[in-house]
Amino acid sequence: MRLLPILLFLALAVVFFLPMLRRLRLPARGAPRTLPDELVKDPVCQTYIVKSRAVRRTDAGQVRYFCSEQCARLDSGG
Ligand SMILES: [Zn+2]
Repeated sequence: MRLLPILLFLALAVVFFLPMLRRLRLPARGAPRTLPDELVKDPVCQTYIVKSRAVRRTDAGQVRYFCSEQCARLDSGG
């Protein structure tokens, strides 16, 4: 049987390379589009927040950013 060492080698290769392949795939798959963290000011509480995390509200074509849903409600509802 000459196939046995080859099969063993293949089995080992699979065992060693599969985790490596998985590791390589993960960052490429889950790579988020990194937006520049721009700071915006909450007009209600005057807090600066990161734009990507801010609560966004469009008011008469103007986009406003708030630190929380509460502030967004305070601004629009009064
Ligand atoms: Zn706020």
